[in-house]
Amino acid sequence: MNNKAAILVVEDDAAVRNLMALTLETQGYQYRVARTGGEALIEITTHQPDIMLLDLGLPDMEGIEIIRKVRGWSAMPIIVISARSEDSDKVEALDAGADDYLTKPFSVDELLARLRVALRRLHAQPAGGESAVYENGSLRIDYAAGCAYLNGSEIHLTPIEYKLLCLLAKNTGKVLTHNYILKEIWGNYTASDVGSLRVFMAMLRKKLQTGSDDQPFIQTHIGIGYRMLKTEKGTEDTP
Ligand code: CA
Repeated sequence: MNNKAAILVVEDDAAVRNLMALTLETQGYQYRVARTGGEALIEITTHQPDIMLLDLGLPDMEGIEIIRKVRGWSAMPIIVISARSEDSDKVEALDAGADDYLTKPFSVDELLARLRVALRRLHAQPAGGESAVYENGSLRIDYAAGCAYLNGSEIHLTPIEYKLLCLLAKNTGKVLTHNYILKEIWGNYTASDVGSLRVFMAMLRKKLQTGSDDQPFIQTHIGIGYRMLKTEKGTEDTP
């Protein structure tokens, strides 16, 4: 995969910013940096980056404000970077439209892995309209028929499991929060429904087990939500 995507690094901490810049440079990514929210907004409008790495605590504004502004016109992948370990900050950022998060301190490998997921998401975005069939490694969803298949065999899903699967598939690469999923699937919900969601997800994950793949399709983010991952196998087939 070439690293032609343009990345915007928004970070006021010089040490973290330099580490990210060095990592991106070493990997051949094009990148620009912003030290404040104001600089970030100028960069976004003038240079239109493909992916943004965004620190949540900036000197002039909260990173979440930037997410809300940018989501008004752009679907670019946003990876939030936060020193704060509280899950509520990450959940708030994800609900505002961020795709993923990294908690400081993070390793270079972690940063690069998250970038690869974001790049796959960027390249997977359909140019126009939604495709009728979803393919991800051995998983296949035929939206028109309302059926899902694993290695060619139909998976027997309850209506809710199927809706959950489609929601995750349509947001492949993006971490979906419990609240977001509950709202999309059930409309009305209470905090206690997270327990039911967990049960449905456990059933769905079990039905998606292939036995051979070591990486599950659905990643669990404890205290936050779930994400459908694009399998490496599947990406080789895409032109
Ligand atoms: Ca900061």
